[in-house]
Amino acid sequence: MGEFELIQRYFRPLSHNRGSEALVLGIGDDCAVQRIPQGRDLVFSIDTMVEGVHFPTRYAPEKLAWRALAAATSDLAAMGANPVCFTLALTLPEPGEPWLDAFAKGLATASKAFGIALAGGDTTRGALSLSIQVHGTVPCGEAITRSGAQGGDLVCVSGTLGDAAGALRYLDSEIGGSDVSALLDRYHHPVPRLELGEALIGVASAAIDVSDGLIADLGHILASSDVGAEVDVYRLPLSSALKRLAGERAVEFALHGGDDYELCVTLPPGKWDELDESVRSALTVIGRIEERAGLRASGTGQQELVNLSGFDHFRSVK
Ligand SMILES: [Mg+2]
Repeated sequence: MGEFELIQRYFRPLSHNRGSEALVLGIGDDCAVQRIPQGRDLVFSIDTMVEGVHFPTRYAPEKLAWRALAAATSDLAAMGANPVCFTLALTLPEPGEPWLDAFAKGLATASKAFGIALAGGDTTRGALSLSIQVHGTVPCGEAITRSGAQGGDLVCVSGTLGDAAGALRYLDSEIGGSDVSALLDRYHHPVPRLELGEALIGVASAAIDVSDGLIADLGHILASSDVGAEVDVYRLPLSSALKRLAGERAVEFALHGGDDYELCVTLPPGKWDELDESVRSALTVIGRIEERAGLRASGTGQQELVNLSGFDHFRSVK
């Protein structure tokens, strides 16, 4: 199957218009055309996933498509952006039809779920990897960055942390049960916090998505904002499935585990009371920003959390 046929057959059907005028022209020309409405900024980001590094070898293609698009789209959520479209560069060893069929199905399901349309892409022969560039928009000047956190701000996270990391040991195991399934689902089907991100525009002073682990990602906010933080490890939101399966290690997973794609945000305490109940209930306050540099565990005096790194792209294999 040639590249043209492959694209026509598997990917062109995904190049739908979202019912808006944002994606003027999708797959089929030399470029796609996106219209940026007046008063909005274009927000874009690219994410690469390599087999054996960011996803297991012989990983199910449907799951791969979902995870890759979720991971890429999650960066839009972190900026408070409304998703519009994405491009995909897919490198694969042998374009087997069952694989492509399942991959395209997974991509269609995910793109529908996240409200983001395929606008174009490229396919090449080689070791399996994929790069996804996502496009979204925010009101002009309103993108939530990593650099706005200030002393006194609350540090909050969405959902629960550590579940995807807790799932790693069950990826190839025969162990079943509802707790294991719950963790595996967090690993295979992360859901980018798009609505929450948009709701935090004008509220959050800084935000990031938790892709590499809370310590690593909160660390990026602290470095960009030139501040420190105190985090109460007893307030970390943990799922009951993780608590039951990981016991005391649950906190460790929550601090260091990547792939949860929750949001870590900072906001001035006064803004907390103004938040909609639906937004507040999606967040857990886990600590406070301080002017003093470093990341500390609260209630434990000098205990430093900071010298612990998150996911290392060049060493960890999942
Ligand atoms: Mg990110």
